[in-house]
Amino acid sequence: MSVIECPGCGEDEDLSGDRQGDPGSETITVTCGACGLVWDRDLTPRCPTCRSDDVRTALRSIVDKSRGTQLSIQSMQVVHLCRVCDAEQLAVWNRSNTPLAPTELPFDPD
Ligand SMILES: [Zn+2]
Ligand SMILES: [Zn+2]
Repeated sequence: MSVIECPGCGEDEDLSGDRQGDPGSETITVTCGACGLVWDRDLTPRCPTCRSDDVRTALRSIVDKSRGTQLSIQSMQVVHLCRVCDAEQLAVWNRSNTPLAPTELPFDPD
């Protein structure tokens, strides 16, 4: 059994897990008591594009557009980046080690 560690703050003790789903496809929802991050721990993370299991865990910001017009970063989600399909994002993640920008922006980047 591998050690679980909060991808947000690195906490590895003050964590609580909630196991859900059927055996074989179950997920564990982990809550960090130190920083409050909640994420699904995928037991067998795979790239959705090429099905490779050579993926890295990273964080992505989620922007809540529903509250007013101000762009506010509300929370983070754990994503799995493929070395091949997500090479660009993986490079950004490795370089900055801060949460990746949200995929959906409330404005056109162009
Ligand atoms: Zn944490
Ligand atoms: Zn891939």
